[in-house]
Amino acid sequence: MRHRRSLPRLGDRSTFKSSVTVFSSTNSFAIRDGVLVPSETPESPTRMLSALTSRDAVVAAMVEYDTLGQAAFLSKYGFGEARSYFLVHDGKEYDSKAITGVAYKNQHGTLLGAHDFSGGEATVRRKLRSLGFEVRSERNPSWVRDEVILALDLYMRFGAIGKTHPEVIQLSEILNGLPIHTDTRFRSDFRNPNGVGMKLSNFLALDPAYAGAGLKAVSRLDEIVWEEFHNDPERLAILAAAIRLGATMEVVEIPVDDEDEAQEGRILTRLHKSRERNQKLVAKRKAQRRAECGGALSCEACGFDFVVKYGERGDGFAECHHKIPLAESGDTTTRLEDLAILCANCHRMVHVRKPMLAVDELKSLIGNL
Ligand SMILES: [Zn+2]
Ligand SMILES: [Zn+2]
Repeated sequence: MRHRRSLPRLGDRSTFKSSVTVFSSTNSFAIRDGVLVPSETPESPTRMLSALTSRDAVVAAMVEYDTLGQAAFLSKYGFGEARSYFLVHDGKEYDSKAITGVAYKNQHGTLLGAHDFSGGEATVRRKLRSLGFEVRSERNPSWVRDEVILALDLYMRFGAIGKTHPEVIQLSEILNGLPIHTDTRFRSDFRNPNGVGMKLSNFLALDPAYAGAGLKAVSRLDEIVWEEFHNDPERLAILAAAIRLGATMEVVEIPVDDEDEAQEGRILTRLHKSRERNQKLVAKRKAQRRAECGGALSCEACGFDFVVKYGERGDGFAECHHKIPLAESGDTTTRLEDLAILCANCHRMVHVRKPMLAVDELKSLIGNL
């Protein structure tokens, strides 16, 4: 059926023939004998969206999305990432417009492309809701390294267990209690057992021991953590235990940048920094260092002394480094002998790559041992 509405006459322009098509942001028209009429191909996009009536077509689009992974799916069909609305299905989030466009193709044979939508994402949301799907306007925050470590640890011990398994339910509770996504307003489905179960099944795609196809919704971070730990489940278990322990400890609020997070995960990095900023202990260690060095507060690795370089401004300045990684000690009390006095450069170099260097290793690296 043709889309009808009253249209402006363009006057007597008999030179125009029926072949000219004009696109507007909402509809497309053809000029036929000098009169604008709705064109038949392409049809009005709004009308095309209303022709999407098959729930199965939407589900099929999500299955393809899962198989290809988000990036490949979006690029195959020429869509960008959704900005405002996400289709939520089985604990996973999908770019709503791309799914809708591909669902239309599944039902009618032609893709509803990224530029064929008239009403923007709000129209897409209405359509998907009318088909019985849940559409939300906020994404859950991406998994960070600490969370992936905990999930992989569970996978290594139990495999891809599902949302009803007690261990999955427990991990869901732990993830909800981690001091990581504290700036995010949590939604009821944040890291719920369903989402945790989906995360575990992601590892199947990376696991050569698994014969099936596996979901391809694997993130780069999933791959990195898998590569790092799948041959070393013991170290993984120790680190996971330390993260769980560290998560329950009171720490000073210290921002952790991406570079730090890439190493020990946010919780242990923050805990490490927090221990290095225990003011009483740091003051004691600095006094001890001065006593060892005849009054100077020099770097234990390279000997740099801030007061020598910067004069009065550098007096009393040095960083304090905690030598025992929490993942090794499993112990949360800080002793004076665990602290080393380092200059800012040496401290950075100790932490810049994993594993963290021992102070003596750094000394030998710079030929100062
Ligand atoms: Zn130094
Ligand atoms: Zn340190």
